[in-house]
Amino acid sequence: MTAWTRRHCVCTEVRNLDYEEAAAALKIRADWLRDNIGKLPHIKFGQQPAVFCHCDLRLILAMHTAMPARAQEVLNAAAEQAAPIPAETPTAPAYQSARPAGARGRRAVAQV
Ligand SMILES: [Zn+2]
Repeated sequence: MTAWTRRHCVCTEVRNLDYEEAAAALKIRADWLRDNIGKLPHIKFGQQPAVFCHCDLRLILAMHTAMPARAQEVLNAAAEQAAPIPAETPTAPAYQSARPAGARGRRAVAQV
């Protein structure tokens, strides 16, 4: 397992859950997690039972979210309204307005 495979994980401290704790958090049976563990994000330490961090649980929720088409339309409309207005491209100040920066600038001119 490489760090790349855990890129969904934003945990800053280890607070892993075992099967029963993860099932309780998801309000499902632990047996369902055990039966489907090969298709679910989890953490595995050798022969020990799998554990889950809360990021794994969020990903499992996303994998198993039923989203009716009408609900998706409402979400898309809300996302369009919330889209940030593109910022104006910043422009550099005109060359004529540029001034040397304090003593350093004056020294640089004196060396010429
Ligand atoms: Zn995590």
